[in-house]
Amino acid sequence: MADRLKVALLGATGSIGKSTLSVLADHPDQFELYAVAAGSRADALAELCAQWQPSYAVLGTGDGRATEQALRAAGFRGQFAAGADAVVALAALPEVDIVVSAVVGAAGLNSTLKAAESGKRILLANKEALVVGGALVMQAARKSGAVLLPVDSEHNAIFQCLPAQGMAGVEQIWLTASGGPFRELALDKFASVTPEQAVQHPNWRMGAKISVDSATMMNKGLEVIEAHYLFELPAERIGVVVHPQSVVHSLVEYVDGSFLAQLGAPDMRTPIAHALGWPKRLAIQRQRLDLWQLQSLSFSRPDAGRFPCLGLAFEALKAGGAAPVVLNAANEVAVQAFLERRLRFDRIPASVNAALSALPLASVPDLAGLWALDAEARRFAEQWIAKDLT
Ligand code: NAD
Ligand code: MG
Repeated sequence: MADRLKVALLGATGSIGKSTLSVLADHPDQFELYAVAAGSRADALAELCAQWQPSYAVLGTGDGRATEQALRAAGFRGQFAAGADAVVALAALPEVDIVVSAVVGAAGLNSTLKAAESGKRILLANKEALVVGGALVMQAARKSGAVLLPVDSEHNAIFQCLPAQGMAGVEQIWLTASGGPFRELALDKFASVTPEQAVQHPNWRMGAKISVDSATMMNKGLEVIEAHYLFELPAERIGVVVHPQSVVHSLVEYVDGSFLAQLGAPDMRTPIAHALGWPKRLAIQRQRLDLWQLQSLSFSRPDAGRFPCLGLAFEALKAGGAAPVVLNAANEVAVQAFLERRLRFDRIPASVNAALSALPLASVPDLAGLWALDAEARRFAEQWIAKDLT
C-alpha cells in the first residue's frame, strides 16, 4: 500500500470533511488520510483521529493543550500541533499529495495558498479562499503547477462540462441555485427569520455559515466570484439561474447553441469523488438520482429584490480590486452576528452594503495588505451591527 496517495484534509470535522471521509473509506487501497485539521471542536477531532489514526492532527483555533489530552485519551498516536500556522504547514508537507481545502471562511485562505505554492493537487471546497485571494491562489498554482479541482458542486459540474482543454467555443456558464429556504417566503416575513429556519436548507445538509449564505443567496454571489477566478471569465459571462430541485448542478453554454449540464442527486460525495479520482472515476456509496422519481426540472430568474446579496456580489466582482475582500469579510461578520441573534436576517445585505460603501476598494498589493483590509472591514461591520437598531 506504499503508493497510496496521501491526503491532508483541512476542515475534517465539517460537512465537507465528513463527506470526504466517506469517499476515502470506500477506497482505502488508493488513499491514505495522512493529516487532518479542524477548528475548535476537540471532541469531534479526537473521535476522528482515534478512528483514522492520521500521522498528523492540528487544531486551528482554541485550546491546544486540552485538545491534545482529549486526542491522547481517545488513543491517537500521531503528531499533534495547534494554531493557524500549523494548519498552513500541513498543506506544505512534502509527503502530502492531495490537500482538501474544506475550512469555512477566509480562515482557509493561507492554507489553500500554501497548497497552491507547494504544487499540490487541491480539492477546493473553501470558496471564500478564492473570493478574497483568487488572484494570488491562481497565480501561485500556475507557477508551481498545482492542480486546482473544484469541489463546490456548481464549479465541479462546470469543470465536468468544459472542453478538455481551454475555453474554446464556450459562450458562457450558468450556475444553478436552489433559491434556498426562503425562495417563496413573503417579503414581510424576512425580518423575523430565525437562525434555525435559515440553516434548514431544502436540499443540502451543510455547515451553518454556507446554509445562511444560501438563504440570502450570498452563497451564489460568492460562487460567481469563485467561478470568475477558476474559469477566467468576466462577470458578464457568468449567469445564475434558479433551479429549486438541485438536480442540474450547473451548465455550460457553447457558441453553437449546445448546453452541457451535469446532473446528480444533491450529494457532495459525488463532486468530491470526481475530484479525488480525476481524471478517472471512483465508484462510491452515494445517494442515487432516481430518474423515475423526477417530476420536473424548473428554471427561473433570481429575484434581485428578494436577494440583494447576489447583486452586491456581482457589483463587487465588477468593481474589482479589493471589493470582494470587503464583501466577504463584512458578510462573515454579519452571518455570525445573525447566528448569535445580534443582527436581523434582512439586515445582512444592508451591513455588507454599508461596508462596501465605506471602505477603500482599490487593489491590495499583497497578502499582508489583503489581511489588513479584511480586518478593517470586520471592524467596520462589527461597529455597524452594534449601532443597527432597526
Ligand atoms: P462546516 O462548518 O461544516 O465545517 C467547517 C470545518 O472547518 C470544520 O471542520 C471546522 O472545524 C473547520 N474550521 C473552521 N475554522 C477553522 C480554522 N480557523 N482552522 C482550521 N479549521 C477550521 O462547513 P462546510 O459546510 O463543511 O463548508 C466548508 C467549506 O466548503 C465552506 O467554504 C463552504 O462554503 C464550502 N462548501 C460546502 C458545501 C457543503 O455542502 N457543506 C458545498 C460547497 C462548498
Ligand atoms: Mg455550491
